[in-house]
Amino acid sequence: MSDQYQAFAKSPIGKFVIKNLGLPSPTHLDRFQSATPVIQGAVLLGAAPSSSLTAEITQVLANIHANSYSGNNPELQQIAAKSGLNVGAYNEGDKESKFKAVVFDASGIQSSEQLHALYAFFNPIARQIQRSGRVIVVGIDPDAATTVQQAIAQRALEGFVKSVGKELKKGITAQLLYVQPGAEANIESSLRFLLSPRSAYVSGQVLRVSKAEVLDIDWVKPLAGKTAVVTGASRGIGEAIAHVLARDGAHVICLDVPQQQADLDRVAGEISGSTLAIDITAADAGEKIKTAAAALGGVDIIVHNAGITRDKTLANMKPELWDLVININLAAIERVNHYLLGNAGLNANGRIVCVSSISGIAGNLGQTNYATSKAGVIGLVRYTAPTLDQGITINAVAPGFIETQMTAAIPFAIREAGRRMNSMSQGGLPVDVAETIALFASTASTGLNGNVVRVCGQSLLGA
Ligand code: NAD
Repeated sequence: MSDQYQAFAKSPIGKFVIKNLGLPSPTHLDRFQSATPVIQGAVLLGAAPSSSLTAEITQVLANIHANSYSGNNPELQQIAAKSGLNVGAYNEGDKESKFKAVVFDASGIQSSEQLHALYAFFNPIARQIQRSGRVIVVGIDPDAATTVQQAIAQRALEGFVKSVGKELKKGITAQLLYVQPGAEANIESSLRFLLSPRSAYVSGQVLRVSKAEVLDIDWVKPLAGKTAVVTGASRGIGEAIAHVLARDGAHVICLDVPQQQADLDRVAGEISGSTLAIDITAADAGEKIKTAAAALGGVDIIVHNAGITRDKTLANMKPELWDLVININLAAIERVNHYLLGNAGLNANGRIVCVSSISGIAGNLGQTNYATSKAGVIGLVRYTAPTLDQGITINAVAPGFIETQMTAAIPFAIREAGRRMNSMSQGGLPVDVAETIALFASTASTGLNGNVVRVCGQSLLGA
């Protein structure tokens, strides 16, 4: 679906009209391209006094060869040097320096008074972050704080990050990474994702990293040797997920209903994957998935992407529309998971990734069935996560307005509102959802379990 407003906004006359009428001005977002560094541009690093995560942050920056800078902070520079990170000196007050990313270790903030460290660090450089730049604040999960004051101060970081995401514009994203005790060594996959253009349409989000085994992986092909099943893979977001997981090294079994066989063959052909033409609501769907993956070493990753909308206001909704949506979008996922987990159908260190929706967070007119199903998916992730073992994880993405056939069917005015009512002033692309799913699917993401991340350009809905 083409975004004609965005095309207009790029033209000279469009720029003039938009500026003078105060209309939203969508920025071109950088997106990931193979064989490029994680981040292209300078990274400014800061830390509140006595922060405890700087060593792990600088280690990641050293691993990705980030061109890093800091102001006058001898404590931080010493820690960075130990990680093998060469941190250049940045003269505070130098307005000419521009940064592609700004990373701030806020883990040392113990009280509301100490939140001043955020202001002191970000205020002078707030205008120096480049287009499609990244702001990342790293903190301690408030649930794991040792004092009430610390929990309050760490929880306060969320408001800061969400406001920064709304203020800075130019496609700049802002995120908060909460680290649980003992999970310091598990932050690399999240930090790489948040720094890179893979997170182009993710903003104002909180990721929680928990303690887990640290596995050695090839960052270029993090899914090498893995078998992934993607439901609803014949088009739209599912097609993009299949492509991204294959790019990251997985063999992808593309699953969709038999009516979609031709498109399914096309997608699988493009990525040297295989096909499974079944309806996921069938009673034996879990068994069929397990059988299809058996010759490929079993299922390592299952992405529950297939989903439908059947919109009607509650008063006009027929019972069959209610049942169909709940069955495909929620009950089928529960049944398949139940079968795979109960019948050795998911390998150790397996990954379950679900697709929810911001409708499931905010609710939506005409979508009582859909929003119920998608809120159910969030519940499924939250309450399944603590029950898993053998390194298996479950997480979800909640897309906002993504340009697909599903959103092309929305009436014009509502579609246009959906596209613009977010910090990026544009709809996301299927690849944006796929990249976030690839983060959760990654072998390196052992510490991500029970997260729900919105891929919505920081939509105003349900914020
Ligand atoms: P789409 O309609 O383009 O694709 C969905 C795919 O799922 C289709 O290929 C369809 O055949 C398949 N499918 C439907 N029922 C199935 C069943 N019973 N068994 C097997 N396959 C089945 O939709 P999309 O926009 O790509 O959406 C993908 C997912 O993302 C859905 O879960 C949707 O709810 C969610 N989502 C989309 C958006 C958006 O803006 N497009 C926003 C939020 C959430």
